[in-house]
Amino acid sequence: MRRPDPFRIFAMSDSSQTHSIHLDTTVQYLKGIGPKRAGALEKAGIRFAEDLLTYFPRRYLDRRTVTRIRDVRVNASVTVVGQILAVDVIRGRRQRLVVLVGDGSGMMECVWFQGIAYVSKNFHAGETVAFSGKVSVYHGPQLVHPEYDKLSEADETNPMHTGGIIPLYPSSEGLSRQGFDSRGFRRVLRPLVDGLARIPETLPDAVLGRHALMGRREAVENIHFPGRWKDLESARLRFKFEELFYLQLFLMLQREARHAGEQGIAFTRVGDQVRGLIERLSFELTGAQKRVLREIREDMRRPTAMNRLVQGDVGAGKTVVALLAMLIAVENGYQACLMAPTEILAEQHFLNIRRMLEGMDVSSALLRGGQKTKERQAVLDGLADGSIPLVVGTHALVQEGVAFRNLGFVVIDEQHRFGVMQRATLLQKGVTPDVLIMTATPIPRTLALTAYGDLDVSVLDELPPGRHPVRTVWRKEDIRGKVYEFIRDEIRSGRQAYIVYPLVEESEKLDLKAATEGFETLSRTVFPDVFLALLHGRMKSDEKEEIMRRFKSGEIRILVSTTVIEVGVDVPNATVMLVEHAERFGLPQLHQLRGRVGRGEAKSTCILLSSYAVSEDARRRLETMEATTDGFRIAEADLEIRGPGELFGTRQHGMLNLKIASLVTDGPVLEKARGEAVRIVESDPKLEDPGHSLLRENLKRLYRENIGLIRVG
Ligand code: ADP
Ligand code: MG
Repeated sequence: MRRPDPFRIFAMSDSSQTHSIHLDTTVQYLKGIGPKRAGALEKAGIRFAEDLLTYFPRRYLDRRTVTRIRDVRVNASVTVVGQILAVDVIRGRRQRLVVLVGDGSGMMECVWFQGIAYVSKNFHAGETVAFSGKVSVYHGPQLVHPEYDKLSEADETNPMHTGGIIPLYPSSEGLSRQGFDSRGFRRVLRPLVDGLARIPETLPDAVLGRHALMGRREAVENIHFPGRWKDLESARLRFKFEELFYLQLFLMLQREARHAGEQGIAFTRVGDQVRGLIERLSFELTGAQKRVLREIREDMRRPTAMNRLVQGDVGAGKTVVALLAMLIAVENGYQACLMAPTEILAEQHFLNIRRMLEGMDVSSALLRGGQKTKERQAVLDGLADGSIPLVVGTHALVQEGVAFRNLGFVVIDEQHRFGVMQRATLLQKGVTPDVLIMTATPIPRTLALTAYGDLDVSVLDELPPGRHPVRTVWRKEDIRGKVYEFIRDEIRSGRQAYIVYPLVEESEKLDLKAATEGFETLSRTVFPDVFLALLHGRMKSDEKEEIMRRFKSGEIRILVSTTVIEVGVDVPNATVMLVEHAERFGLPQLHQLRGRVGRGEAKSTCILLSSYAVSEDARRRLETMEATTDGFRIAEADLEIRGPGELFGTRQHGMLNLKIASLVTDGPVLEKARGEAVRIVESDPKLEDPGHSLLRENLKRLYRENIGLIRVG
């Protein structure tokens, strides 16, 4: 049976020929697969022959990638191939399955603590199996919960006996029950590839030529049945390119569709106030600030609505860039607003902006929750009649539908909470304001290009001069006393400190030292003679503000807090940050926290205190923090440790499930693929050109669920 496909009319006549197979033949009708096995494949997302072709091996084995057991080293990631000598379930305090493997050079154990019943059924003495994992030691070297693939002893599948490269496919319990382990996949793929009438090329000739990419048919052959590593690499590169190219093409068409019919504002003038502000600043704009401002300026000049993300590490100076852009809007007769994620931040932005605008003829206002009715009404009136051109508030500004006379420019300061704001809520009376999003989340460029394909991205990649990188040290519980001494020294020399805890109260039944409890101990026994204050998220906002004010003025010497301070607080005299239970924080959070120190001329220190034993991932996070202050490197490390799906929640969710390309390591391929997609969409924004029919068809096939989001042909 063929999939009903309105885009491939010519295919109809073929459907009677039950022998010929095509890319859109359902897998049930392929050689060696019946309804039952097809069901297992479908659960794994494999419905058509094409899906099977693009079900790529996760790893390849040959003599070069296999380690002899005699040579395994602790902590190395290895693949060993050997015979099963014994399978034992050992009962006791911790029940475990132990599989003893030997390869002629030595023996080692593979151990499972979970899934024992299922896994143990898979192994029988005498079988040849490849095991992959990281080597640890118990009595001797062992692999805990390794991945495994059964191989036959025969030459054609045992890498120890042949010079061949053996592909290993991802599998699941459901798949392997139906015989779809690596051998099973190889068995159905061979007749499929041989029997396919056509494996059409999916990339334009010009693209193949420019990047010297392998043709599709050849790539299919080489990725599933590799002969030489060199050809395998070319095949993999080709499929990575194909995957990223169509993803970018889709995202760009989506952006075109979204902008079509939208009426934006062309801000044509840059007047005296903008120039005046630049002149009166107490500092020179950095090169990066000037460049980003130019990019914003170009967007604003055009009659389409701007949708631009400005990424800049903490302290990179995003606010002044945003303010200058807002002034351009104001000078063109429009209103501008800045929205912050919290009231504390909104107030801080407002105070900054008011200070910078001092002596200039631009009035600004702050709109916030706790305001007196009369005061608030005055602001609302000013926004409605246009007498207030510039306003700062929280996201509630837009959510509550505050009425503006002519809102033309919106700045969203999302700090690390990127993705909360829906652009749609900003549409007012048919005119779309320009939107500038500021984020301190250092998104790796590959991810920005992918997840935010519909945004333009500017990067503030230069810190203002005179900043010292924060020294970061990871310390364990046992030297807590020394850490306190260090803080005391800093306080004595006039500095201030932050001490951060992960949770308020011990309510979650985790063995965390909560901020409240820590605060008690600190103020009673550790720093009884120092003015400490506690700040946490459940306090009333005026209480919080009062504490922040007194910390800023230098009266409070040590601020003990939960993570509420991670956003935007600016106290240059604070030079120490101690993070308690640092192993419990994610990398972006630690980076944000650390950004609270090192904001002045003095050298600053961030101390990450952890319990004695931490998990492997926590160790990698803490070591990354010690090694670098570069937000982009931290974001990349985060991507590596966690993977992209988790990092970006739901936004463009399904699309980040890449089959072969990696957002961490395939940045250069992504850039090239994007370049080709840009070239196409710029010349043919709706993909109407008859010469692009191939691209249209493939997009529809690849993005069947999401095709409504774009307009093609
Ligand atoms: P962030 O990007 O974290 O929002 P801010 O805009 O708050 O950074 O700027 C941090 C500090 O640096 C502010 O005190 C700001 O006045 C100052 N600043 C911004 N740009 C420059 C510059 N080019 N030179 C010196 N100081 C600057
Ligand atoms: Mg800021």
